[in-house]
Amino acid sequence: MKVVLVGVGQAGGKVTQALAEFDERMGFGAVRGALAVNSAKADLQSLSIDTCLVGQARVNGHGVGGDNELGAEIMQEDVGEVMGKLDGRITAEAEGIFVVAGLGGGTGSGGAPVLARELSRIYSVPVYALGVLPGRDEGALYQANAGRSLKTLVREAESTLLVDNDAWHGSGDSVGDAFDAINDAIAQRVGLLLASGEAVDGVGESVVDSSEVINTFREGEISALGYASAAASEDSADNINTAMSTARQALFTGTSLPDARTADAALLVVAGKPEALPRKGVERARRMVEDETGSLQVRGGDFPLESDRLAALVLLSGVERSERMEEFMQRAKEANSGETERPGAPGDQFQNDELEDLF
Ligand code: GDP
Repeated sequence: MKVVLVGVGQAGGKVTQALAEFDERMGFGAVRGALAVNSAKADLQSLSIDTCLVGQARVNGHGVGGDNELGAEIMQEDVGEVMGKLDGRITAEAEGIFVVAGLGGGTGSGGAPVLARELSRIYSVPVYALGVLPGRDEGALYQANAGRSLKTLVREAESTLLVDNDAWHGSGDSVGDAFDAINDAIAQRVGLLLASGEAVDGVGESVVDSSEVINTFREGEISALGYASAAASEDSADNINTAMSTARQALFTGTSLPDARTADAALLVVAGKPEALPRKGVERARRMVEDETGSLQVRGGDFPLESDRLAALVLLSGVERSERMEEFMQRAKEANSGETERPGAPGDQFQNDELEDLF
């Protein structure tokens, strides 16, 4: 899936750069352009990708603190500059634009939904969001900001892929220490997902096509990505169990939203050396994902890749009804209102108006 990435805010810029570098290092060619947008000049200066400073008239390059309403206003006022920087970069080959942001802060939290809306107005390619949710231990302002940002982002983007900051860091690391590790994990895992279907070697019937990735991102839904890998044998027959166990691990302990397992649609990609990829194992693992997610629309396929390991990626769409999402939305509502509310029925969190849209 060929994409152009636009990172907003500090986390957005860093994750975008990590994704662009991973794609370049691996030679995949899935990332066709990368731009970082911020109202804080210092955050842009530490990046090596192209940048765009917004809100200079309002905050003079100093950022918006945690004020995501100001972040949204600034993006609205200066969206012309961002569009100018993107001019000519979203070529006909691009299959999607990804707006990337940490949802708990200010510039990315407020700016990402505005940018998603404006990009959707101008370009005919789908505009997706890659959002980072604050971990449980991040403060109430982060939770509140992320709740309103997410609600609005889901409305504006074609589909929203979420990574919880509690999901992909090593045990023992605090979230703060772990940002670089989390960003590297996002770059590798989301980078592999985008690149699956772009593979050229060993192309066969069972190879995943980028349309399968695109079709798994359902309109208006939230998705999560699972990942796990293990040492592989040279012989594909010996890897049948490995395909099954890595897929299970990706789904049960490796998802970007911990414990999100119910899905409307899913995609299983097994990556490894072409001759080591076990057809039977991939099909068996695909059926396991079907059983475990309760979805009848589980696509599956290979991603031929020069590696001694076998990796499983599981993209799950429709995870907004998972317990993890409900728990987060409850936390965000409480942080917004400062009071405890009774949990609603599953799936209610985006229908009720307890949490206001950002705009
Ligand atoms: P902004 O610059 O105002 O958009 O705010 P930030 O991007 O700094 O922060 C927003 C959220 O992203 C918070 O929940 C932070 O904990 C988180 N965050 C900040 N930097 C990083 C990062 O490099 N990686 C990850 N994964 N999260 C980050």
